[in-house]
Amino acid sequence: MALLEVDSIDVSYGNVQVLWDVSLSVDRGETVALLGANGAGKTTTLKSICGDLTPTAGEVRYKDENIGGMPFEEVVEKGIAHVPEGREIFTESSIRENLELGAYVDRSGMEDQLAEVYKIFPRLEERADQRAETLSGGEQQMLAIGRGLMSDPDLLLLDEASLGLAPVLVDDVFEAIERINKQGTTVLLVEQDIYNALRVADRGYVIQTGEMTLSGTAEELAADERVKESYLGA
Ligand code: ATP
Repeated sequence: MALLEVDSIDVSYGNVQVLWDVSLSVDRGETVALLGANGAGKTTTLKSICGDLTPTAGEVRYKDENIGGMPFEEVVEKGIAHVPEGREIFTESSIRENLELGAYVDRSGMEDQLAEVYKIFPRLEERADQRAETLSGGEQQMLAIGRGLMSDPDLLLLDEASLGLAPVLVDDVFEAIERINKQGTTVLLVEQDIYNALRVADRGYVIQTGEMTLSGTAEELAADERVKESYLGA
């Protein structure tokens, strides 16, 4: 049984439909990449999983339960954390305060969870009491991911985690994603950086103008002529 199954969803903003019959599945323990160009519908797909948007057709099943349209807080309680594009951290609050905000599901386990996040991101512990604005761009992205991990999710949804970062910081972010996955968290990531995404992912999907057009193992997609032509600059 898949951990997450997006089954033929249609999604609209008002009366403008942007997703048509989109399906994907993620098994426990996998890292899966959702790839596509600007405006293809990647963010919309993630928002339909985490409760920000309600599909007009189809189902989003998590652990075999239809969570399509479930409120965001309940989705977090089910074990899904969403790290949105653009980080959205509170720059004037401390790093620790930012992390604590991610723990609103079960504050009793907060200290243990903080320790877990600090194990993955030691830099955040070293700087815990400093304001988040003093972090570099890459460190701010680590903080956004760390905040997502504070709810101890089974499934982490990551939207463009590497966007806007210098290449050396991009490597750090993808290494962090690999560590998180190795520790047992299933990952669904949305990326325009197809090269790096396919390096860390087990499988991937390609979405084009609101429709799923390709899927396969990371190796298959990296070798696919259509992917190479469109995205890898071949
Ligand atoms: P990007 O990488 O640029 O974020 P994306 O693949 O994540 O792209 P989406 O953000 O999901 O794409 O957008 C899919 C389509 O939906 C685009 O045509 C976009 O213009 C449209 N769209 C996104 N948000 C809204 C909104 N709030 N209202 C209306 N249309 C929207």
